[in-house]
Amino acid sequence: MIAAQFDYKVPKSLDEAVSLIAADPDGAKVLAGGHSLIPAMKLRLAQPQLLVDIARIKELSYIREEGDQILVGATTTHYQIESSDLLKNICPLLPACAASIGDVQVRNKGTIGGSIAHSDPAGDWPAAAIALNAGLVLVGPNGERTVKADDFFVDLFTTDLQPGEILREIRITKPSGRFGQAYQKVPHPASGFAVVGVAVSLALKADGSCAAASIGITGVGVKAYRPSAAETALVNSTLDGTAIEAAAAKVCDGVDPNADLYASGEYRCQLARVHAKRAIIAARSSV
Ligand SMILES: Cc1cc2nc3c(=O)[nH]c(=O)nc-3n(C[C@H](O)[C@H](O)[C@H](O)COP(=O)(O)OP(=O)(O)OC[C@H]3O[C@@H](n4cnc5c(N)ncnc54)[C@H](O)[C@@H]3O)c2cc1C
Repeated sequence: MIAAQFDYKVPKSLDEAVSLIAADPDGAKVLAGGHSLIPAMKLRLAQPQLLVDIARIKELSYIREEGDQILVGATTTHYQIESSDLLKNICPLLPACAASIGDVQVRNKGTIGGSIAHSDPAGDWPAAAIALNAGLVLVGPNGERTVKADDFFVDLFTTDLQPGEILREIRITKPSGRFGQAYQKVPHPASGFAVVGVAVSLALKADGSCAAASIGITGVGVKAYRPSAAETALVNSTLDGTAIEAAAAKVCDGVDPNADLYASGEYRCQLARVHAKRAIIAARSSV
């Protein structure tokens, strides 16, 4: 299929992009890597009047530290994150998640901001954003606001982004002390998208028991989510096999799982439980 007709603008700055979108918040759409938006346009599931291409705005592509924060610009590509030595050292969950996405071409073009803004139920970044308690910095005609990842993913392909807003930055508090992180995923054999993806970040006490656990799950429900009961089961545990098994058993509590030709809901939950166990063990082992 061929996309419906649209205008195309390449702003030089974020301010210019915000003005272009604000002039027609319902008809204009941000274009980043285009790996989800262009296929949707070709299928005419999306028919924007105007595409505002933010991929070339230099001020939106960066990875840096600022105090106790890690800042990642919205148009930073999966590959830039995967290959960042800084992130490998201070927050290895980010490069691990990036490396699991699609193939080389997809990782070279797709952006973290596009993936988070799109909220695909099988997207990998939403799970990592939740597990890392990310703050998502949104900018629009009325200024800037920061939304917690937990509150950002609202429903299937639906986020808290309001018409006219652009996701500008992903902010993560640097893990400190004794911490371990891991991402485990069952990729769909055709696309690489997550049939199930589990992101885990653990903080350990001096005696090796669990001080804090943060988990994000993707692929199972209509949106990425935090399995709070599993986290609670881990905290203060010794992270031995029994404790991990008991926590992983809870990752689908209260979730209505997706079912499609590839995986039934029951199978997805079983995959989530198995891969949660693996991710927790891998995170603990990486401390
Ligand atoms: C073959 C293939 C395999 C893939 N495999 C995987 C995979 O394994 N795992 C995975 O997670 N993803 C996968 N993807 C998705 C891909 O990696 C991108 O992350 C995803 O398409 C969205 O990012 P993008 O930069 O391409 O966004 P776009 O397609 O440009 O935009 C997507 C949506 O987000 C909006 N948007 C984009 N950026 C912003 C912003 N900064 N602020 C506000 N709104 C914004 C757009 O308006 C649009 O609605 C795959 C894609 C393809 C084509």
